Amino acid sequence: DMIFAENLSRLGTESAFVVLGRAARLAEEGRDIINLGIGQPDFRTPEHIVEAGIKALRDGHHGYTPATGLPALREAVAADLERRHGAAVDPGAVVVVPGGKPTMFFAILMFGEPGAEILYPNPGFPIYESVIRYSGATPVPIALKEENGFAFSADTVLSQITPRTRLLIINSPANPTGGVTPKAEIDRLVKGLEAHPHVAILSDEIYSQMLYDGRRHVSLLQYPEIRDRLILLDGWSKTYAMTGWRLGYAVWPEAALPHVTRLCINDHSCVNAAAQFAGIVALTGPQDAVAEMVAAFDARRRLIVEGLNALPGMRCADAGGAFYAFPNIEGTGMTSTEAQDLFLEKCGVATVAGTAFGAHGEGFLRFSYANSQENISRALERIGEVLNGR
Ligand code: PLP
Repeated sequence: DMIFAENLSRLGTESAFVVLGRAARLAEEGRDIINLGIGQPDFRTPEHIVEAGIKALRDGHHGYTPATGLPALREAVAADLERRHGAAVDPGAVVVVPGGKPTMFFAILMFGEPGAEILYPNPGFPIYESVIRYSGATPVPIALKEENGFAFSADTVLSQITPRTRLLIINSPANPTGGVTPKAEIDRLVKGLEAHPHVAILSDEIYSQMLYDGRRHVSLLQYPEIRDRLILLDGWSKTYAMTGWRLGYAVWPEAALPHVTRLCINDHSCVNAAAQFAGIVALTGPQDAVAEMVAAFDARRRLIVEGLNALPGMRCADAGGAFYAFPNIEGTGMTSTEAQDLFLEKCGVATVAGTAFGAHGEGFLRFSYANSQENISRALERIGEVLNGR
């Protein structure tokens, strides 16, 4: 038999993809499945961005680009960050990678090894814990609480830092909760981090343009005191409905740039050239489509939060960002997995159990509202019938 490397046994997965597979099988059997499980916009990539990708292919951009991205794309990213966050960014510190995930993978492998500790949100994006374990580092969960709107608490984070802590991962607006951490709490966190200069920070801001009710995004880029150890992750997947293009970026601290550049060269050489040209046009062209998509998400958010709160045994916080609702389902008497399975089998509604995002997600269920208002209403109706009929 083949002998696989031991660390493979520690690699986890993203259960949303498993649920997607089950939902697809049920759909093949002829069931009418409403998918509120997957975390991707249901919109097409705006047409002018698609055209830019096609044009790049026609113009003959078929070769490698520099490993860290086309200079024009890195400049467009820096200008976009400056426009949105009011913070100056050196285009030379921007590294373009195939999606949001590679930055996570590289950052965790850069700091993670046996004996190191890495702090990460729980419930949180499952890939953080998976890759931390893979690296051999010790995962240290930061518990996010419903009563705090799933925001990070500076005190909780700071109290968990030890001399062995290498990396702190934060994510706001957050997957799977939709939680947004208020500025005052981020101010306190950054202030407290001054006492721990050995800790690098990975701020996953992939949902930076999806905030509601007048909330404004607070980027960690806005804190010069931590710039020399901040990795700022963002990208095109969610903002421009480009999950399948595989395009993302991070701003890296100067000391980490040679390491991440070599990781890119060893791993993928460069991102698909046509996608990079499309990425330039996404950032420099009209932004109306972004505003339209965010407005649509906001209308769906109101619908789903109100609908979930009206269901017996459910209680849903008014999520401030991203496109997820994360209701507490304890009042139904079911575990997260039981509720996920019941809703999929009996209602044909795909959701993801809170435990797919860590142990602290027990008692919760993630609903992605990246689906039409009509489908959201139908899903709520079906779940209501099953819950009332039990
Ligand atoms: N970070 C968070 C918090 C996410 O929810 C996701 C996608 O679901 C990503 C990063 C990864 O995005 P990408 O598809 O660009 O790799």
